[in-house]
Parts: sequence; C-alpha cells; structure tokens
Amino acid sequence: MPGGVDLHSHTTASDGALAPRELVRLAARHRVRVLAVTDHDSTDGLPDAIDEAARHGLEIVPGLEINTDVPGAEIHVLGYYVDWPAEWFQAFLREQRAERVARVHRIVARLGELGLPLTAEEVFAICKEGSPGRPHVAQAMVKRGYATSVREAFDRWLRADGPANVPRRRLTPAEAVAVIRRAGGVPVLAHPGLADRDAMIPELVAAGLAGIETYYPEHSVAQIQAYRQTCERLHLVATGGSDYHGPHTGRAATLGSPHVPLEVWEALKRKVRELREQARETEQPGHEPRESDSPPFLPGHPHP
Ligand code: AMP
Ligand code: ZN
Ligand code: FE
Ligand code: FE
Repeated sequence: MPGGVDLHSHTTASDGALAPRELVRLAARHRVRVLAVTDHDSTDGLPDAIDEAARHGLEIVPGLEINTDVPGAEIHVLGYYVDWPAEWFQAFLREQRAERVARVHRIVARLGELGLPLTAEEVFAICKEGSPGRPHVAQAMVKRGYATSVREAFDRWLRADGPANVPRRRLTPAEAVAVIRRAGGVPVLAHPGLADRDAMIPELVAAGLAGIETYYPEHSVAQIQAYRQTCERLHLVATGGSDYHGPHTGRAATLGSPHVPLEVWEALKRKVRELREQARETEQPGHEPRESDSPPFLPGHPHP
C-alpha cells in the first residue's frame, strides 16, 4: 500500500515551526497519506490542516498531546479522534493554555533568579497565538545569547530536572487519559521510551489508556518489540509517528519517519469504534448519548 502514516506532528498552534498548511504540504511531499496533527493543548491547527489536506488527497487524524509532570519525569498523552469542537473540550484546552502562560511567567522568574533576565513578553512574541511552552522560552534564551541552541537551553536549564524548569499545576497522567476518553477519543501514551516510567502503564490502563506510541524515532528496535508485545498483551493499539516539529527546532525528526504501517491507522479506527461502543453500553441515565455511529472525525454532536 503506497503512502505513509504519521500519527504525531506539531504546528505553529503549539511549538512546531510550520503553519498547519505548510506541514500538510510537506507531508504530501514526503508521501504521507495519513497525518495526525497533535499540538500541545490545542486543536487550533486542525481546521487549516484538514482544509489543506483535502487538496492533496491526504487524511488528517484530529489529535492533540497533553503533557503532564510526575516526580522526576514527564508523561505525555496523545489523544486521537476526540470530539474537539465540543465547547466543554475547548474550554478545557483554554484552561490548559492559561496554565502554560502562568508557567512561562514562573519559568521566567526562575531564570531571573538564576541571573538570566528574560521577560514573558519576549516568549509570547515567539509563540504568538500558539500554545506556549519551554521550546519558546528556549528560543527567547537563544535570542538573548544565553544559549547557542534550543537544545543547549534545554540541556542546561529547561530539561525536566533542570534548574529553570518548574512543574505544571495541572493534570496527572491518569486525568489526561480520562479527559481524552470523556471527549470520545483514544488516549495513547506518547514516546514511553523517553520517560522511563513504564511502571505506570497498568494504572494508566486502569484510567482508560487505549494505546502506546510504539514506533518512534528515538525508540530502539528492542523497545519497539517490547511495546508491541505490551500492546498485544493488554489489548492496546500500537501507534507511531515522527513527533515532527519543523526544521531547525533542535530535533532531528523527519516527517513520515519512522515507517508506520497503514494497518496501524486501521487499528486506531477500530479502537475508537470499540471505545465508543463500550461507552454506549455503559451509558448512565441522564447523560446525553454520543452519536457513536457517526464517523469519529466528523464534528458536531452533542456533549455533556
Ligand atoms: P512543554 O510544552 O513546555 O512541556 O515543552 C515540551 C516540548 O519541549 C516537547 O514537546 C519538545 O518539543 C520540547 N523538548 C523537550 N525536550 C527537549 C530538548 N532536550 N531539546 C529540544 N526540545 C525539547
Ligand atoms: Zn513539542
Ligand atoms: Fe511529547
Ligand atoms: Fe509531541
């Protein structure tokens, strides 16, 4: 089957360097047929991505990524086929982004204490309307000459246990999983090979986790093998993607790489149907039913 699948990418709606339309055009050039746009705490890139994709015969999987902190590490949760236009879900994302803004202020204050004065405005000038995060802080630090690259800013100050990182005051990983399920989506543990917290997988599954990002640029062959087996054992979908953030972002990812079989997308679509079927069976009286028979990527059904 020609064409690739890439279920993890970022745009200017969060910390990606490419606008949604640019990302989709690049994906088409890389012969990607199915692309998930998974910005941090934002679905604002989706309308443009979907519109542009229609011109290139490309399929967009609507998604997002929710980053959470646990002691000593970060757990990122991807959500696919969420009912993203739902008003309650957009209100949730606005709260998430408000905390990101507040966190930038806390990081900037911390940098000041470390003798690296920086204003939050310099950071927001870089992310513009997008969901702010440490990559934007890192870029502002490079502009100031505090580091020669985004990578160096992370390595010296902003990494999870770095001196200028401050934790988020938001969700636990289980809560991130639960909110994606509540929005009718498929929650997937992102790049677990980077987090060293595989011990949390059972409790995340108990919270509703439905997949593990298995194919990932920084996963070894042995890790891919191990996560595939875990997925089989726990009846989870093994997904994959590049986590592409655009050129010159201090990251080596290539859109459409690693190769993800088309079968993974088919399995993801089966999973969303399965979860919605389950949700319908356990529907509580008083809750509005979901329109489980409509294609999961079509917006516009009622919500709680
Ligand atoms: P935040 O949204 O503030 O949690 O920042 C997380 C983002 O920072 C990730 O999605 C990556 O894009 C980026 N990131 C994390 N670690 C590094 C690193 N060592 N070098 C460059 N970018 C990184
Ligand atoms: Zn990112
Ligand atoms: Fe991530
Ligand atoms: Fe990501």
